Amino acid sequence: MSANTFPAQIEPFKWAEQGFTWSGTLPLSRFVRIAREAVGSIDHQLISIDCKLSMDAYHRVVWFDGHAETKVPLECQRCLEPVEISLVSDFHLALVDDESLIERLDEDADFIVLGESESSTKGDFATPAIVDLLSLIEDELLLLMPLSPKHVSCEHKHQPAIENIVEEKRDNPFDVLAGLKGKLNS
Ligand SMILES: [Zn+2]
Repeated sequence: MSANTFPAQIEPFKWAEQGFTWSGTLPLSRFVRIAREAVGSIDHQLISIDCKLSMDAYHRVVWFDGHAETKVPLECQRCLEPVEISLVSDFHLALVDDESLIERLDEDADFIVLGESESSTKGDFATPAIVDLLSLIEDELLLLMPLSPKHVSCEHKHQPAIENIVEEKRDNPFDVLAGLKGKLNS
């Protein structure tokens, strides 16, 4: 399989049985929900992925394990310049097609109930569950996106003049008060 081909929509149980594994890099632009948050061009940004599907002993749960890593340029909330944020995820997801199996999983295991959000009729077992693995990986990375990305060290650049004035105005009354206090006390 060429390194650039990632299967988009798969039947997890079938692919787990075949021992699906994938390692390689993909353009970050394929992750549209992450790309939407990025500032500037991400045309040359890559995401590296290692992942595999495996089946539990009872062939009821498919485990989707892997590692995904990328860097996204986001807007620094302090200086409004781009800041490169690293997203690194080690995921361990249970894919089940039957909600009752969730109880058998470890309490802290992340799981996806297949077909839950699909429009297909509930209980229609004739249609094998289909899953978009890239979308699952993207979900994991989106959880890691900081709400307020910032450089480790940078300065306010937006409206510096106004901020300086505000600060001076805020500081001055205290100086005046301190001065008066000193005079009253002396
Ligand atoms: Zn900054």
